[in-house]
Amino acid sequence: MPELPEVETIRRGLDKFILNQTIQEVHVLCEKSFRGNKKWLLGQKIIKIDRRGKALLIQLENNMWMMVHLRMTGQMIFVGDEKFAAGHPDGGFTEKMPGRHTRVYFDFTNGTHLYFNDQRKFGFIAVLDELGLHEDKFLNKLAPEPWDMKPDDFWTMLQRHKAAPIKAVILDQGNIAGVGNIYADEGCFYAKILPWRRCDSLDRDEADLLLRGLCEVMQASIDSGGSTMKDYVRADGTKGSYLEKFAQVFRREGLECRRCGGMIEKTRVAGRGTHYCKGCQK
Ligand SMILES: [Zn+2]
Repeated sequence: MPELPEVETIRRGLDKFILNQTIQEVHVLCEKSFRGNKKWLLGQKIIKIDRRGKALLIQLENNMWMMVHLRMTGQMIFVGDEKFAAGHPDGGFTEKMPGRHTRVYFDFTNGTHLYFNDQRKFGFIAVLDELGLHEDKFLNKLAPEPWDMKPDDFWTMLQRHKAAPIKAVILDQGNIAGVGNIYADEGCFYAKILPWRRCDSLDRDEADLLLRGLCEVMQASIDSGGSTMKDYVRADGTKGSYLEKFAQVFRREGLECRRCGGMIEKTRVAGRGTHYCKGCQK
């Protein structure tokens, strides 16, 4: 599953390659992977590449939108003079396009192409008008992303969840959007709090520090090209280096804490593998 920084990396790649391109034809090779009427897209210029949480939102001149969910195995592959691929690397990147796992693809009027590959078919592209976008269930339940959330609102949200473990609460996209497993662990390390503590055990300074930590670790990942998981690659097909460069606790169990010299340990919180330092997280 890509995390938000990976999807933001893909958004930036698409912005570079398909912005202002006009769609000539849409080929739907798998009905399940495409929702809506492709006629709404034909002859339309792409005027904006946006993102909400892990969904890509592509706006067309006629105010229709394509919402792209990559889910587990989605890939976006652009083929023109330059080629770029982003998403899950199941080998589809290097195949001749359309490939085995191509579900939908677009021809642009300048002779370039964009392919949506999805091995397991959990992802999809939906065509929506403004109202459909406004009423979309997925988008509607998304809370603000960390950098769009005020410390007061974050604090109020935590108070609502009282006894729930902090990590479970910040992983819920309805509470704060885009925080995946890695960033939850790194954010708690940043704020020096143990991920399983009850929400109502945090004081205001700890809560403020946690929000700042989430912003910092996710921004650092975006700046380094996303790619937090070893099986995700950047828009140009190379692997990101977030984990080696920035991870303080994630997948560092058994190693020395860079802050206090203690040992990083691993446990389970909210059903997820959770990394922490017993020495400096309270
Ligand atoms: Zn430590």
